[in-house]
Parts: sequence; structure tokens; C-alpha cells
Amino acid sequence: MPSTDTNAIFDRARARIARPFGHFIAGTWEDQRNEPIEVLNPATAQPIGTIASGDTDDIDRAVAAARRAFENPSWAKMPAAERERMLLRLADLIERDGDEIAAIETLDNGMPFAASRGMAVGAAVSAVRYNAGWVRRMTGEEVPISVPGRWHGYTTHEPLGVAALIVPWNAPFGITCNKVSAALAAGCTIVLKPAELAPMSGLRLAELVQEAGFPDGCLNVVTGLGATAGAALVRHPGIDKISFTGSTATGQSILRGAAESLTRVSLELGGKSASVVFPDADLQRAIPAVAMGIFGNSGQVCAAGSRLFVHDTIFDRFITGLAEFGEKLVVGPGDQPGVTMGPLISAPQKARVLGYVEAGKAEGATLLMGGDAEGPGYFVKPTIFINAQPEMQIVREEIFGPVLSVMRFSNESLDEVVRRANDSIYGLSAYIWTQNLSTAHAMASGLRTGSVKVNGSGMEFALPFGGFKQSGLGRENGRAGVEAFTEKKSVMIGY
Ligand code: NAD
Repeated sequence: MPSTDTNAIFDRARARIARPFGHFIAGTWEDQRNEPIEVLNPATAQPIGTIASGDTDDIDRAVAAARRAFENPSWAKMPAAERERMLLRLADLIERDGDEIAAIETLDNGMPFAASRGMAVGAAVSAVRYNAGWVRRMTGEEVPISVPGRWHGYTTHEPLGVAALIVPWNAPFGITCNKVSAALAAGCTIVLKPAELAPMSGLRLAELVQEAGFPDGCLNVVTGLGATAGAALVRHPGIDKISFTGSTATGQSILRGAAESLTRVSLELGGKSASVVFPDADLQRAIPAVAMGIFGNSGQVCAAGSRLFVHDTIFDRFITGLAEFGEKLVVGPGDQPGVTMGPLISAPQKARVLGYVEAGKAEGATLLMGGDAEGPGYFVKPTIFINAQPEMQIVREEIFGPVLSVMRFSNESLDEVVRRANDSIYGLSAYIWTQNLSTAHAMASGLRTGSVKVNGSGMEFALPFGGFKQSGLGRENGRAGVEAFTEKKSVMIGY
């Protein structure tokens, strides 16, 4: 049983999200108008609350509120130091309520409580503090001018305006806080559309943004389905910027929707990232990191290392270590102590993942461990396929579940290893395990991915994050993440 303290935290979280949530527009919580959407706990398949089902009218009201807030001098002319202070206060409030927010995330998304505390809340606090630092550092540059005369030439970064933030369910709080704080740091105002499958922590964030003192309308939240609320937001002519994280298929449809108004778009999409383990790797570190790189958050991670290439000479040792690690993971409801792997988000997602397991077997890969798991919740055990081949569906397509496809390499050249790792329509991340500096540099330079990690994993907010190829467009994090919510202006003053 969980400790009394943990029970009390979960009781508070349940009570907090049990109310029927309406949209949050212009600083006011509205009543639900349409048929509400029921939100389920993926560990129990039981309802935890309801959210409003947003439509075009709701999006219109939210965009209008965000526009008024953008033009309101209390926001538009707010001194940079004041905006920074508010963001830092928001980070403090998230930290203050961290346990309860983590419990909400666990009930809503399914991730184990310890992961919610670290992945959801810890990452959110770091992201908000990091982005707050850019408010006073988003400087332009002075540019020497060559046309005749005396000129002062310089650039500025100006907020784009009203930003539509559309987020997925797999790490909702961290992703939402990162986008919201980058947009606010740039001076934009926001209409947020949380994922209908895990909207609760985004709604809690709205309360904290208000408490932090941001003027009404700076952050508006409209909940609802992607095909209605999301699509209406994307096509709204009052939106200046769309920042989307989700599947590649939805990203493509958003890009088409944005074409009409030439709305600026950033897309963080899917992945099929490779881990490559060389014979000189530190296996003590590599085995748990590679395992958690695919089993962490039940594999529902865009940057999951879902294709693994292991050198022949260490293959058996490595795979035995991975399987032992996988066997030790405790699959169950995230609010239970000792659970290290939660459920998948929904029944369709579980069916999809198990469909891939069947496809892998049918295509001739060897199922080393895993597959289905018992429970009313949507559990799937850590799953490893060996003898996977490059043309198999389990190697080519993003599964978004705890399914690892393992391949071997031997004495081929580094160029050939790079070619095999790059053999994907995606290009989000790659993980290299080697002690050899030349190998590390050759791989880092050859890989067509937005990020490469050598001898490690994890998120660093100071480094840009995003995809090559069909993994996305643009970058989050780093200076680029805040700049993405700005437009560059050039000024020439003759004197
Ligand atoms: P999804 O594309 O189904 O949904 C994401 C969001 O888009 C949800 O809020 C949804 O309601 C909304 N949406 C759906 N259809 C829409 C439409 N036509 N117009 C506007 N909005 C619409 O993705 P998902 O299943 O929630 O998330 C999983 C995907 O997200 C995976 O492919 C994963 O790789 C990707 N992801 C990427 C990153 C990254 O940073 N690259 C991070 C996390 C997840």
C-alpha cells in the first residue's frame, strides 16, 4: 500500500480534478456547454473527471481574449524584469504544488508517481526557469551597414502575437510548461489545447499562471478533440503562431491548415530513434540507460530509443542484461509503491502496440520477452524483439509503446553503421555508446538527427531539441525555443 502521505496527496489530486472543467478564457472558468468528454485513468479504465468539448465558438472567444491581452498595455508594455519575475514565480508555484501536480499526472497519464515527480514536475520547473532567463536576454544585434550614408542598423525580436499551443498526452505537463513559458517569455499570449486523453495537468497550470499574476487572457485553455477544437484553432485567422507536439500525421495536417494564413508553425513530431552500442561501451551504464530509453514512460516518448544496434562481440551479454533489467521492472498502476512502469494511455493505444507485436512475430523477428499484460488498465510488459530486420514494420514505424527492435552489426565500416542508423523517415534523436572519441565524433557528425547523445540520455533545456526529416520543423529549448515565438525585425536609421 502507498504511505499515508502518498494516499493523502492522491486524495487531494482526485478531489482537484473531479469537478466538471469548462474552458479557461480571459481569466474565467466557464461552465461546460456541450456534451462533456470523460477522462479515464489508464491504470484502471475508470473516469477521473470531465472536460468541456470545445468547438469553433469557444476557439473564437479564446483567440479574441488572447488578442485583447496581447494588445493590452499591462502585458505589451510590461517591463522585461516584471515578466521574468512572473515566470520565476510560476516555477515556484509549480514546485510548491509539485506532489499534487505529479499525482494528477499519474492519474491522468498513467506514469509512475516517481516519474511524474521527475519527468513531469522536475522538468517543468527547469523549463520555466530556463525560459524565464531569456526574457531579458532576447537581444538583437547591431549590424554594420554598407549602403552610402550614415546609418545605424540593428535587429530586434518581437513577439509574434497569439500562439496556439497544441500538446500530446504522453508527457503533458512538461511539454505544456515548456511551450507556455517559452511563449510568455517571448511576449506572446496563448490559446492552449491540451490532449483530450490527458488534459488535467494543463488545466491545473492555468490556475497557477493566474496565481502567478499574469494578466487575464495571457493564457487561455480550450479543451476538446483534435478534429474539432484543435482543427478550429489551427485554421483560425487570429492565430500568429502554432506550436504543436504530436504525431507526424497530425503535424502534416496542421501544416496544410496553416498554409491558408501562412501562420508560423513549429512541429515536434514522431521518432524511431536508434541506440548504437559499440564493443568498448561501458555496459554497466549503457544497459539501464538503453532499457529505460525504451521502457521509460512505457515507451510513449518521442525520443525513445526504439531501434537498437549492438555489436556482435557484446551482443549476448548486452541482450541478457537488457532482458534482466526488463524482468525487474514492476508493471502496474502508477500510484502504487514500487511500480516502475505504468500503463499505456488508452485501449486503442494498447491494441495498436499489441498489433505491432503480432506484426513483428509474423514478419519473423524473435520475441525474446514481453507482450500483453493483465489488468483492467492498459498494460503492456517490456517487450524485446531480436533478429529484427530493416524492412520490418517494427523497425520502420513508430510504435509508441515499450517495444524494442534489436539488430546486430559487426565489422562493417562506421559509415555503414551510420547509414543503417539513418535508415528511417524520422530523425529525432540518437544514442551512441562508446569510449572511443573518434567513433563518437564520426557518429555525431554522420547522424541525421536533431540530437545525438553519447554515453547518456535525458533532456537538457539549454540545448535545442527537434527533428530532422519527418520528426519535425523548428526547434524547442535553448535560445531557439523562445526565438520561435518571435519575428525578427531589421531597423535602419539614417543620421
Ligand atoms: P496526436 O497528433 O494524436 O495529438 C496531439 C495533439 O493534437 C492532441 O492535443 C490532439 O487533440 C491534437 N490534434 C489531433 N488532431 C488534430 C488536428 N487535426 N488539428 C489540430 N490538433 C489536432 O498525438 P498523440 O497521440 O497525442 O501523441 C503521440 C505523438 O506525439 C507521437 O507520435 C510522439 O512521437 C509525438 N511526440 C513528439 C514529441 C517531440 O517533441 N518531438 C514529444 C512528445 C510526443
